[in-house]
Amino acid sequence: MKKHNFYAGPSILSQYTIKNTADAIIDFAGTGLSILEVSHRSKEFVAVIEEARQLVKELLDVPQGYSVLFLGGGASLQFCMAPFNLLRTKAAYLETGTWAVNAIKEAKIFGEVDVVASSKDANFTFIPKNYSVPADADYFHFTTNNTIYGTEIRKDPDVAVPLVADMSSDIFSRPVDVAKYDLIYAGAQKNLAPAGVTIAIVREDALGKVDRLIPTMLDYRTHIKKDSMFNTPPVLPIFSALQTLRYYKQLGGVEALEKMDLAKAEVLYEAIDSSKMFVGTVTDPEDRSIMNVTFVMKPEYKELEKDFIDFAATKGIVGIKGHRSVGGFRASLYNALPMESVKVLTGAMKEFEEKH
Ligand SMILES: *Cc1c(COP(=O)(O)O)cnc(C)c1O
Repeated sequence: MKKHNFYAGPSILSQYTIKNTADAIIDFAGTGLSILEVSHRSKEFVAVIEEARQLVKELLDVPQGYSVLFLGGGASLQFCMAPFNLLRTKAAYLETGTWAVNAIKEAKIFGEVDVVASSKDANFTFIPKNYSVPADADYFHFTTNNTIYGTEIRKDPDVAVPLVADMSSDIFSRPVDVAKYDLIYAGAQKNLAPAGVTIAIVREDALGKVDRLIPTMLDYRTHIKKDSMFNTPPVLPIFSALQTLRYYKQLGGVEALEKMDLAKAEVLYEAIDSSKMFVGTVTDPEDRSIMNVTFVMKPEYKELEKDFIDFAATKGIVGIKGHRSVGGFRASLYNALPMESVKVLTGAMKEFEEKH
């Protein structure tokens, strides 16, 4: 049966990415070797990482003066690397979910952290507004998309200091004004590639301003100087990332992807809002994520949640169980998810509702 993959991460990848990766596992670029067994310094792989870097720059319109890095350690390592490299005395953070909480915890190791606003008391069901970011902060850190809670900030905030953003779960779903940022980072396993590589887009002249010593591997300058080849980079995830980036370009870039993502999210939110049985956990339309749609059953149907997951499975729908801190359901509508899968899900919701 055809599967409809709504997992939050690792998550659906395009067939283009999966097929080309499978082919390269057998024979990489006509070398007669598998991508799993070639040197990262072979000319064939150097061409892969260079094209991938170039495509990230092209798709996100990255200005001069920025480096695109391919790092290990996941987005979670960036929670520490960002303040290690950028926090001189004080940084401002917006607390919108578990990932932001983790980022704040690491930043506190390096200096003063001003949490400018939080939606923690409301279990992160909305994006705080009307906060002010102190002008003497070294940067303002926020999570663009809160994967667990289904909220998203789809505009680059206007504040007086440089931005730093965790874009792990919505990178390449909209155009970004990179010039406003000192750093953008994203683990690959939500919208790009298998787990193992993290993209960092770093403003070069933001570096070298902290007094502390930075361990070599945690210093962005190390990886800039060596074109992400200081040590062995995650070869296979970078190869897959390149396939996805090529595919994104073929589809028309981030503007085209955004249009498709908005259309998919609209279909699902409309099904939730018009349902007697289901209800969204995020109510302000402005805050609703177009990547991760979180919803639950109304109190009178609550005991049917497990049944719905089983029913959906009979239609090939996988990965819709909500995160334990929200409960209910989460449908992740990443770039690679086709509209067809969304329609299968909304169809299953209607059918289940009629049955009960
Ligand atoms: C998944 C996720 C992370 C954690 O990524 P790892 O690569 O597992 O460290 C961080 N931030 C956001 C927004 C995420 O969705």
